[in-house]
Amino acid sequence: MKIRIFDTTLRDGEQTVGVSLSPDQKLSIAKKLDALGVDAIEAGFPVISNGELKAVKMITSEGLSCEIAGLTRTIKTDIDSAVDAGLNYIHTFIATSDIHLEYKLHMTRDQALEKAIEAVEYGKSRGLQVEFSAEDATRTDREFLKKVFGEVAKAGADRIDIPDTVGYSTPEYIAEITKDAIAATKLPVSVHCHNDFGLAVANALSGVHAGASCAHVTINGIGERAGNASLEEFSMALKCLPYEQKYETNIKSELIYETSRYISKIIGIKVQPNKAIVGDNAFGHESGIHTHGILSNPLTYEPISPELVGRKRRLSVGKHAGIHGMNAMLAEFGVKPTEEQSQQILDKIKVLGDQGKQITDVELLSMASDVLGEKGIKRIVQLTGFSVSTGIGIMPYAFVKLNIDGKEFIGTDYGVGPVDAALNAIQKITGKISELRIKDYGLASISGGSTALCEVTISVEDAQGNRVSSKSVGEDIVTTSVQAVIDGINRIMLKKMLKEKQVN
Ligand code: MN
Repeated sequence: MKIRIFDTTLRDGEQTVGVSLSPDQKLSIAKKLDALGVDAIEAGFPVISNGELKAVKMITSEGLSCEIAGLTRTIKTDIDSAVDAGLNYIHTFIATSDIHLEYKLHMTRDQALEKAIEAVEYGKSRGLQVEFSAEDATRTDREFLKKVFGEVAKAGADRIDIPDTVGYSTPEYIAEITKDAIAATKLPVSVHCHNDFGLAVANALSGVHAGASCAHVTINGIGERAGNASLEEFSMALKCLPYEQKYETNIKSELIYETSRYISKIIGIKVQPNKAIVGDNAFGHESGIHTHGILSNPLTYEPISPELVGRKRRLSVGKHAGIHGMNAMLAEFGVKPTEEQSQQILDKIKVLGDQGKQITDVELLSMASDVLGEKGIKRIVQLTGFSVSTGIGIMPYAFVKLNIDGKEFIGTDYGVGPVDAALNAIQKITGKISELRIKDYGLASISGGSTALCEVTISVEDAQGNRVSSKSVGEDIVTTSVQAVIDGINRIMLKKMLKEKQVN
């Protein structure tokens, strides 16, 4: 059975605290969602501002292959502005729960019902496809909800949506009212689930199991408060979990990761590391028992293969490391220690791991080189000197001295700030040697106050387009940034060099 994916990243997702997008940004996200294969996108709420109207207009004029909807209240001017935005599909809503009626709308149930019917009739008279949402449906009196859905269906609505506006439903209850809505309307029913109790995806799945043919979802689960059902979790659960009924969507799952990162970057909301499917750690393995299992058969600890969602498995070593995982990482670089050497390297890892350190692949290779006595797998690039000056009224300036494979190099450059100057100076050196470029730079504070630790993530690319990323944590933004870059450069140079060695 085909399930329709209605993506509301650009509407409910944009209502996330602290998020506001320009029309150009909204258009770029819309294109990305269309390429991902969503069936419909909710492009925005045209009446709220001129910028929003413009954004929706740009999206409706783009010739995308998905359907494009816009949100409206059950108010004529809202519906008119949807038409002005070039929409031929609206998602119109009015609250139906007593708590919203009394404290927000100051209306009786009958008055709200009347507004709903009027809006659906008006939308149809303007030639629109109309999807009707009874806001706060899951806290609405069940009999009244059935009545509202039945009446708007009679008034000509094309689709019905059940919003669990404050994430208050259980999977059992949303299944019940989904069945009610289908029985009362005989229309296609969607569910719009919020994550206030972490149940958004479970509720959306339950709605679908009860007969809903569509779910409203967002990329990375962003949205009001705790967010909405996440597109990646919902679509992959439908695809992979052992339901008796087979479900399909039009989502091109191999584009999920890329889309998630793209949107996270534009919107400025990081994906939590342990987030299902798209989090940094979702396909990472450190523990020895797990990596051993994965290496003999990935199904042991990976319910789905990372490639299915456009990702790669990541093995790392730390105090939970086992010899198999470590050797697998080394083998990626063509390094094959003897059993005794493996044990020695592992002992070193455990010592560092017990001090709370995560070992990067560069550090692992450097430890391996100590044990194996091979010069070739040492850290190639070392920072031997560094100073930076900054202030007001002068252009920040950096001086960097690197030792690369035994030779000294000096680079100096200006920048808009001390970090920029330092990175420019490093790039001046490495650009000459191996055309390495810093593609991405991210800075986050990981604790509060002026003594906060900062986390720098960078990504480095070589001339062939190979990319590596690295991360560094420290107290000083400038030196931490420099360390992250040096680490990244080491990784990419090592990978390159060892690959060449393997080929020869
Ligand atoms: Mn919502």
